[in-house]
Amino acid sequence: MKIEFIDLKAQREYIGDRMDTAILAAVNEGKYIHGPQVREFEGKLAEFCGAKHAIGCANGTDALELCLMALDLRPGEAVICPSFTFAATAEVVAGLGATPVFAEIDEATFNIDPKGLEAALETAKREGLKVRALIAVDLFGQPSDYEPIEAFCRANGIVLIADSAQGFGSRYRGRVAGSIGDMATTSFFPAKPLGCYGDGGAILTPNDEYNEVIRSLHVHGKGTDKYDNVRIGVNSRLDTLQAAILLEKIAIFAEEIDKRQVVADRYAAGLAGVVRTPMVLDGCVSTWAQYVVRVPADKRDAMIDGLKAQSVPTAIYYPKPLHEQTAYKNFPVSGNGLPISERAAQQVIALPMHPYLDEATQDYIIDAVRAVATELGVAV
Ligand SMILES: *Cc1c(COP(=O)(O)O)cnc(C)c1O
Repeated sequence: MKIEFIDLKAQREYIGDRMDTAILAAVNEGKYIHGPQVREFEGKLAEFCGAKHAIGCANGTDALELCLMALDLRPGEAVICPSFTFAATAEVVAGLGATPVFAEIDEATFNIDPKGLEAALETAKREGLKVRALIAVDLFGQPSDYEPIEAFCRANGIVLIADSAQGFGSRYRGRVAGSIGDMATTSFFPAKPLGCYGDGGAILTPNDEYNEVIRSLHVHGKGTDKYDNVRIGVNSRLDTLQAAILLEKIAIFAEEIDKRQVVADRYAAGLAGVVRTPMVLDGCVSTWAQYVVRVPADKRDAMIDGLKAQSVPTAIYYPKPLHEQTAYKNFPVSGNGLPISERAAQQVIALPMHPYLDEATQDYIIDAVRAVATELGVAV
């Protein structure tokens, strides 16, 4: 049996014909840059989550960078973000010469802990840094706990950016990620829940001014006349071809999120008491970008090897929090360190997760996890 960690071929079997027609049409139309599919997709993306504006760009990292450029983020300024995340979240801050201040995550959800934000702010102040923004990450598809985060940002004049690369389309108490935050970003990297056939990304915002500035910034800082540039920008566009692909994919995205939930529920039922299964906040729905379980750190390698021996692929997201990585270890860490982030990095294992994981294959995976965990004496 060959088990895929993320099965993109299964989706192609489902919508491949429509997709091929859409791709060929875009190729034949020949409007390769900013063709009509780009605006059409931006409209669908905004509609999906209830955002006012959506702007396509080249990838999810650029999307974050464009948000920070719109704030004119400078050296001497800081952005609070989690350390247990993909590097892009903090990379864009440091790349602009500003300082990421790493905050602790919540033990149960892996997302930035609202209770640790005051400590992060204090740390920044002590370092003489002005906090301009906070980047909350919807890790593994679960929305951050936005209500207390929004209250903290409002009280301190901090701009909230939601990095929804993994969680675009997830639900937080009646709202949909993408519509949360002063700006939200997503990525269409193929392995993300809403992925394209290459690189792509988008920024979403309720704010007319951010929309206007980012629309200019992502095309070299163009003014109303494209050869009269009004600011220093970048070249970061969503390709017409990728937009054509995404138009087909977003049409089935809600259905795919439902299918992922079915898979997550079956894992939770099959693995309860065997390994530590993920917890989703009340009133929230994850997009299940990853299904991440936890085992004791000293059993993890053996667990992964045991699963591999039974042909079950796994992955570790993420083996090292950013504040322990070479490029980031000199940036400020909130409070007295980030033990919860460090522990999470040592315990997590991601299991195969995609909307087309059939019951028989999933049962095989569940049985394998149960058998290996029992053999290793993993207790939760
Ligand atoms: C994937 C990802 C990004 C970056 O997206 P790219 O399109 O690969 O640049 C940013 N943040 C998080 C949390 C991600 O998972």
